[in-house]
Amino acid sequence: MEYQNGEWIKETGKYYHICLECLETFTGRRNKEFCSTRCKSKHNNDIRREKDPEAKVRALSYRKTADVLHQCFNHKEKITTLHLHQIIKKGFKLDSPYNRIKFNNQEGEWNQIGSYAYQLTDENQKIIIIKIKQWN
Ligand SMILES: [Zn+2]
Repeated sequence: MEYQNGEWIKETGKYYHICLECLETFTGRRNKEFCSTRCKSKHNNDIRREKDPEAKVRALSYRKTADVLHQCFNHKEKITTLHLHQIIKKGFKLDSPYNRIKFNNQEGEWNQIGSYAYQLTDENQKIIIIKIKQWN
């Protein structure tokens, strides 16, 4: 079963979430933002320590972009190709933080966000998305 962040799961009577800190999936009360108290305090400590009010904005942008990738990915295929403007319209953010990764079986470097990785192609007109791991 595939869920989106904040979605009600009838079978468990809980809500499906993506942790703002570790980006793992979990279920719980509607307003939960973190999978554990450890993640919650790490997140809050990071914001305080860095005196970085943009930390939460970045985390939210990351989560929104992870959500959009999840929604736009064709789960019947291994690779999804879309026009960049289509996915941006849905809330995808090119300036979201990401990790640079490489795969043995794919060319070039990829931007990894949560369970997905993407590359821009066709002079940045199109985006190629692949799924890295299964969501629970
Ligand atoms: Zn977490």
